[in-house]
Amino acid sequence: MKIKFLDLNRQYKTIKKEIEKAIHRVLDVGNFIGGSEVESFEKEVAGFCGSRYALSLNSGTDALYLSLKALGVKSGDEVITTPFTFFATAEAIANTGARPIFIDIEKDSFNIDPQKIAEKLAQLKKLNKLKKLKAILPVHLFGQVANMGAIMKIAKKYKIKVVEDAAQSFGAKIRLQVSSSRFQEKRAGAIGNVGCFSFFPSKNLGAYGDGGMVLTNDQNIAATINLLKNHGSSINDKYKNLIIGTNSRLDTIQAAILKIKLKHINEWNGKRIKIAQYYNKHLQGVIGITTPSIDNNIFHQYTIRVSSELRDKLASFLSKKGIPTMIYYFLPLHLQPVFKYFGNKVGDFPESERAAREVLSLPIYPELTKVEQDFILKKIKDFYEK
Ligand SMILES: *Cc1c(COP(=O)(O)O)cnc(C)c1O
Repeated sequence: MKIKFLDLNRQYKTIKKEIEKAIHRVLDVGNFIGGSEVESFEKEVAGFCGSRYALSLNSGTDALYLSLKALGVKSGDEVITTPFTFFATAEAIANTGARPIFIDIEKDSFNIDPQKIAEKLAQLKKLNKLKKLKAILPVHLFGQVANMGAIMKIAKKYKIKVVEDAAQSFGAKIRLQVSSSRFQEKRAGAIGNVGCFSFFPSKNLGAYGDGGMVLTNDQNIAATINLLKNHGSSINDKYKNLIIGTNSRLDTIQAAILKIKLKHINEWNGKRIKIAQYYNKHLQGVIGITTPSIDNNIFHQYTIRVSSELRDKLASFLSKKGIPTMIYYFLPLHLQPVFKYFGNKVGDFPESERAAREVLSLPIYPELTKVEQDFILKKIKDFYEK
């Protein structure tokens, strides 16, 4: 059997008619930038996620970059984030001129460790060096929401803004305490001051091209991002440039496609969770494998831990059997050549470095069949029985 790590064509086949109708609708109207498709998509996402404003953008990377700009992050500032993430997270910080301050991850969730954020902030305060720190940028890695309860509490205490990198977690939920006796379910991206999504094709909610979005409840941030994404000019008065911006708009065709896909996202995320539960059930007993947590997770990736001596051997064994796997991520960001100038070195963030040696992501997507899942599980068990 030959399995694909991700097969977008299978999903396309299930929505082909709807998608083609939507694309033709845009072609017939002939409006390719902005317009009612984009506006209604924004409203639908705001409603789905429970956020006052949703601003469509060209990518997750610009969602992060423009969010930081809108919060006033600039050259010489600092932003706390995780070193165990996709490069764009820290790249967006660096592009504002600010410096990413890395904080190590939790062992179990692969997400930034709130305890270590608290320690860092206490230390900076003691040294009277808190002034430059403008934001905390947690990432909900692999579809699992970071410990937002603890992160929001710390941010509030130090009056620091929170920007969520929710690129991998569209639709994920977490129960948060909103008052002394009340809990509420919140969607990833709608918890911090700003939340950022990517609609890169391989993401849980993926366009047929690039796309992104920002959520916020703050009218000023929303207004600023609306200017920034359009050369610093308002859509209604486009020849008056008020600030220096970018061209970061979402295409109308992509908005029309995403509107179709949004209707299916709960069903698709649900299927991912089912597969993850099935994998967990069968892999939990395999000595040498640590399975991921199901809590607050919509499984953008299904990522196990394997001892570093066996990880690459397992990957190449599976590859020979027709099962591709991926390593997200090989190199934590503090060790990326481009970030060396901050003086980071091996050993600075041991949990992130250990994760980089141990992680292995298995195929997971809503259309992955039971037969394929069983084949993958069987071959993993074969490897450990050898
Ligand atoms: C995909 C991704 C991004 C960037 O999104 P693009 O739409 O590709 O620009 C940022 N952060 C994380 C964690 C991602 O997975």
